Amino acid sequence: VACRKKVDTSIIEPGIEMSKMVDHLIIGQGLCGTLLSSELRQAGRSVVVIDDADPASSTRVAGGIVNPVTGMRMVESWMIDDLLPAAREKYLTLERELKVGILHETEILEFHLTKEQRDLFHERKAASAYLQDETEIVGYEPYFRFYHGVGKIAPALLVDLMAMLDAWREELKAAGCLITERFERTACEIGPDGVRYKRIEAATIIFCDGVGGMNDPYFGRLPWSTDKGEALLVSIPGLPRGIIYKQGIAIVPWRDDLFWVGASHDWRTSDLQPTAMFRDKVCAQLDQWLKLPYTVMEHLVSSRPGNVERRPFVGMHPLHSNLGIFNGMGGKGISTAPYFARQFAMHLSAGAPLDPAVDIKRFTRILTK
Ligand SMILES: Cc1cc2nc3c(=O)[nH]c(=O)nc-3n(C[C@H](O)[C@H](O)[C@H](O)COP(=O)(O)OP(=O)(O)OC[C@H]3O[C@@H](n4cnc5c(N)ncnc54)[C@H](O)[C@@H]3O)c2cc1C
Repeated sequence: VACRKKVDTSIIEPGIEMSKMVDHLIIGQGLCGTLLSSELRQAGRSVVVIDDADPASSTRVAGGIVNPVTGMRMVESWMIDDLLPAAREKYLTLERELKVGILHETEILEFHLTKEQRDLFHERKAASAYLQDETEIVGYEPYFRFYHGVGKIAPALLVDLMAMLDAWREELKAAGCLITERFERTACEIGPDGVRYKRIEAATIIFCDGVGGMNDPYFGRLPWSTDKGEALLVSIPGLPRGIIYKQGIAIVPWRDDLFWVGASHDWRTSDLQPTAMFRDKVCAQLDQWLKLPYTVMEHLVSSRPGNVERRPFVGMHPLHSNLGIFNGMGGKGISTAPYFARQFAMHLSAGAPLDPAVDIKRFTRILTK
């Protein structure tokens, strides 16, 4: 990809006052747009990011957990031995650069719901270093009712996504690289030599627009699979913070002394309405599990931008070499996106190869129909 020289670094937030030439125009500043723009700038590339700051974006609703094991069967998450250290390193780097707390090393306490779950945990423990004995865990009786023991999942990470997005937003703004508005596809011309959007010229445009990507004329044909997720913000005075508690749902330390409690998965609907059914179900579980009083403060809902294959969409369009995508992280973006943002940035800036498991070239047939 040709590298363009920046000709103007004047502040262009909130509107586009001056013309600007950049290497990469990035659409969306959720988790993916944040990490990719950061990696590209680190690789010496110039970027402009356009984001409409949707408060219900997936990243702004997510719990922020990097859990090294997945599902009821507690199998190790895909590539976790590579993804977890890369995530830790990236969030720490951003924390230092932006001077804001982002990364918390933590552990997950798994309160077994049944004897069968406890037995499964013990069975799986032999195969995974992330599952640890419950014998060291004592002292949770004042807070929870539990009858089948507790297992520990560690290391795990907890990422303050809102702090990261807000601080990166300020950084982009200060560098004159952020436009806060809705990107309009009709105003974007894609030519053989680059992309023009209003007064911006870029060598490439990369879409990091979350579920918005499903309606994209170029990438809409990818095998998307969105997953509605709901969570509650709950006040639980007296519950120790710094640890994640899990029993089907997770109780996660959140900002402002609150806890994030969630989340649901619903692949069947595209509506983004909070449901009484979810709230009632979570409250019924908290009534049984928690010994402490609690108050529900807020009900969050969003949609995870996923892929039926459960692998990200990364790379350049097979027919349009200046059109790219970094998306499809599903329910595992916090662990997956840092590793592949680095890989994609190295691909764009130095021609490094992309992992075929994530490269959208694997969908060449449907993208070129
Ligand atoms: C309830 C819930 C809980 C979750 N918990 C976890 C978790 O604990 N751990 C984990 O790993 N993952 C979790 N996830 C998944 C995680 O949130 C996603 O993998 C990740 O945040 C996706 O990031 P993204 O940047 O692709 O999308 P988004 O965060 O949706 O970002 C897209 C951005 O693009 C902007 N945008 C879109 N269209 C346009 C346009 N036309 N013009 C301008 N801007 C535009 C939006 O405003 C937004 O800022 C959870 C998701 C949900 C819903």
